[in-house]
Amino acid sequence: MTTLRDLPSVEELLQTKNAAELIARFGRPLTLTAIRETLDKIRARFSSGQITVLPLHDLILAQTDSLLTSWIKPTLRPVINATGVILHTNLGRAPLSDATIRAMDTVSRGYSNLEYDLEKGVRGSRLIHAESILQKLTGAESAMIVNNNASAVLLVLSALANRKRVIISRSQLVEIGGGFRIPDVMKQSGAKLLEVGTTNKVHLKDYEEALQDGGALIMRAHPSNFKIIGFTEEPELKDVVDLAHQSGVFVIDDLGSGALYDTAKYGLAHEPTVQESLAAGVDVVCFSGDKLLGGPQAGIIIGRRDLIDKIKKHPLARAVRADKACLAGISATLLHYLKDEAEREIPVLKMMSYTPKQIKGRVEAWMRELAQGEIVEGESTVGGGSLPGESFPTYLLSLTVESPDKFLKRLRAQNPPIVARTANDKVLLDPRTVLPEQEGSLLVGLKNVFNDF
Ligand SMILES: *Cc1c(COP(=O)(O)O)cnc(C)c1O
Repeated sequence: MTTLRDLPSVEELLQTKNAAELIARFGRPLTLTAIRETLDKIRARFSSGQITVLPLHDLILAQTDSLLTSWIKPTLRPVINATGVILHTNLGRAPLSDATIRAMDTVSRGYSNLEYDLEKGVRGSRLIHAESILQKLTGAESAMIVNNNASAVLLVLSALANRKRVIISRSQLVEIGGGFRIPDVMKQSGAKLLEVGTTNKVHLKDYEEALQDGGALIMRAHPSNFKIIGFTEEPELKDVVDLAHQSGVFVIDDLGSGALYDTAKYGLAHEPTVQESLAAGVDVVCFSGDKLLGGPQAGIIIGRRDLIDKIKKHPLARAVRADKACLAGISATLLHYLKDEAEREIPVLKMMSYTPKQIKGRVEAWMRELAQGEIVEGESTVGGGSLPGESFPTYLLSLTVESPDKFLKRLRAQNPPIVARTANDKVLLDPRTVLPEQEGSLLVGLKNVFNDF
């Protein structure tokens, strides 16, 4: 009769050629852990009667192999974004340009002058790296890069607004997503909120009164992920800034996405640009690196030199500093703008500028290749908390399948996973956000799912 004693020991299994091969691939400590876990599972299943025959060496090690393979599979993997949402925060926001990826790769491979002054041979500052590009691009006196825009806002307020009464319109007390609430961040920085106006209306007079009440700073936060329509009013930024400056108070502007280009040229609503804020006289502007700008995750702070100097010296600046890959990457992305080649090189801008005709051509090619589906008109969106309610006309591949939700699930199980959406019982795929080099994998994935659906 078979008993658990017939199960080979760990030592016995380690003598085999297959185990040696696993050790070569996965290392000895991990392989040992996996063999023990595999044997434990077999013992448990045998004892509970789930199996009556014990597996032989080869089969045990094959099970160990799949266990090890599942353990080392990266949890963070590339996916194909067929949703048509360009800045999909859950899918990692902006895909990067080739030059940006090269810059990040080069600086990561070896040492760099991250904080080293090559001319003098002494310690330098990491904050200089993107600074001159940002000065040339925006005309700002000074600039610095931090980890992301949330930390930029926290840092700016901590350095400039701590214990001060900060005036903000009630229409701007927004939640950005992931629990990032402007009023909470303001409180966290030590600022005291002086709320003015109402949800839909704020007048210049409201700011005037708040300044008389001891407001020491004005904050503007772009309500980037929603839109209030109807009976609304907000004074021109320039008028608010002029009023603030007359009282010797400065203005901080959290732009959120921070476009450097006017999005109106893509047929979208106008997203406030960085240049406009500076032209209105705002003292400090902060925005994201990985939203409409189309670069790596970063927070960009630009503005008056004396204020930026103060921000650079604040203890939090160290806690939220950008790493060398980010600094190299954001510099390369910004350089595309400076060289007037952004639309040609930056994927996010390329996706926005595809014409409906180009998109239609891609859907037609997919349909021919798959011999499935129909072409339908639809809409792509910017996403990433930018331009709410705005969309681009697009063409979609529409698939009629038995169970659309199951089909989507199978698509997500492909390698690389494909993320699409459903509407009115159809599976919809938007070519706008599918990178051209991913088209082959997309079609293979779709065929796989069709084959066993
Ligand atoms: C997105 C956003 C932020 C946060 O920026 P991250 O780069 O995601 O940290 C802050 N403020 C506004 C207005 C935003 O839209």
